[in-house]
Amino acid sequence: MSQLPSTYADLLAAVDAGTDGREIRDPATGETIGHAPRDTTEDLDDAIAAATAAQPAWGRRSHKERSDLLLRAADALEACAEPLAELLSREQGKPLNGPNARFEVGACASWLRATAGFELEENVLVDDGETHAVLRYRPIGVVGAISPWNWPMMISVWQLAPALRMGNTVVTKPSEYTPLSVLALCAVLNSVFPDDVLRVVSGEREIGSALSSHPDIDKVMFTGSTATGRKIIESSAETIKRLTLELGGNDPGIVLEDADPVAIAEDLFWGAFINTGQTCAALKRLYVPDSLYDDVCAALVDVAGKMPMGVGLEEENVLGPLQNKAQYDVVDRLVEAAKDGGAKVLVGGNPDTDQPGFFYPTTLVADIDPDNPLVTEEQFGPALPIIRYSTLDEAIEAANSVDVGLGASVWSSDPDRAREVAARIESGTIWINGHGGVDPRIPFGGVKKSGYGLEFGVEGLKGLGLPQVISG
Ligand code: NAD
Repeated sequence: MSQLPSTYADLLAAVDAGTDGREIRDPATGETIGHAPRDTTEDLDDAIAAATAAQPAWGRRSHKERSDLLLRAADALEACAEPLAELLSREQGKPLNGPNARFEVGACASWLRATAGFELEENVLVDDGETHAVLRYRPIGVVGAISPWNWPMMISVWQLAPALRMGNTVVTKPSEYTPLSVLALCAVLNSVFPDDVLRVVSGEREIGSALSSHPDIDKVMFTGSTATGRKIIESSAETIKRLTLELGGNDPGIVLEDADPVAIAEDLFWGAFINTGQTCAALKRLYVPDSLYDDVCAALVDVAGKMPMGVGLEEENVLGPLQNKAQYDVVDRLVEAAKDGGAKVLVGGNPDTDQPGFFYPTTLVADIDPDNPLVTEEQFGPALPIIRYSTLDEAIEAANSVDVGLGASVWSSDPDRAREVAARIESGTIWINGHGGVDPRIPFGGVKKSGYGLEFGVEGLKGLGLPQVISG
């Protein structure tokens, strides 16, 4: 693309495959937005061959040259921010406002800039007069990037920015639910990058599977469900690919007895309901002591009542629909399981099935059995179970009782005490008095079945390089 699209229509025209493509509908209204290319495994092979051919020259450029291009890419994104946010809102469903579409496009630019700025120098390990040993990082080759539908642009940038910075070329495969957003993102980025350094292949699961088993893909960056992560481990085994796996989560939050319910309520709310709950590291189970239980529930109900949900392009809305019917069904099933188990629905839980779109109302569930499926499974939607606890040990044991460990949070007026509790939680990140706030300078990754490998910061760059020791 030679010129940056200045309007939504120009942006869509740059990526729309026409009526031969796969129809993509707005999850809020059911209206057709556009058509995604039906790329085949031959198209994937061509993209990988082109990215393979482009890699040596890209890898030979200096870090400074590649960083400068990342900075220019951030400028290009900002120049197209409004049309990108509109397409993202229509396709993903997330509102323009709140921590949603405009926020996501802004985060893409921030991550590109931050990734351009990290220093990864050669590390002198030993230099004692007899031995001189350094650790350095070389490009890996061609990176396959596979992303989900919840934060399609931002997660794609999380994968491709450090990969490109380290001298790799990238073939990215967006989720089949949100291909247009990623195609548009890459069209804008490719107005800056040299040819074939970044390629997109739009396809369904088989394309992801072919990418993760392809002999010329050297590393896979994957963000998505634990079930798919397991398949990627299997399909990449033959070629021993390097993997970074950011998988599912079921993040706990523990409120301590000294917290102020009203003061923390809005941050608790957004910790759980950011992107209408469709966030890997969202607060998905909230543990509250007996002494504060009623006050925390009341404060959350109060905040929930002030947060409008509706069609994303309407400026007043800050919560949107579920992105797809399958996810809507998961949330509906889990809230029904909570009701069947005798839990009390404080607000929500009763979707209007006559309304178009996959809207599920903001739902807060109290007095729920800790073993109820709404607690033990990942809901990935706008339904938060609030679980009562008597002793802190009991809450920590419950927080650690699941087989995933992405994020967690501790809420307290005493940060030192909160940090002590945090150290006992089995998660990759534990936030204090907040939940899910990511920062390009701070490494992020899961433990247990939430995956392995770190993204962001210098640690993230290392994950996209081949460590090489030169000793002698
Ligand atoms: P998903 O696993 O269904 O799909 C993710 C991507 O994998 C899509 O592009 C899909 O086409 C592709 N894919 C599907 N089958 C494949 C296969 N066999 N081989 C290769 N690729 C394949 O996940 P989703 O439903 O899009 O996303 C929701 C899940 O992602 C949730 O569990 C959520 O917690 C998780 N998630 C994790 C993070 C994180 O950073 N840990 C971030 C966002 C989402």
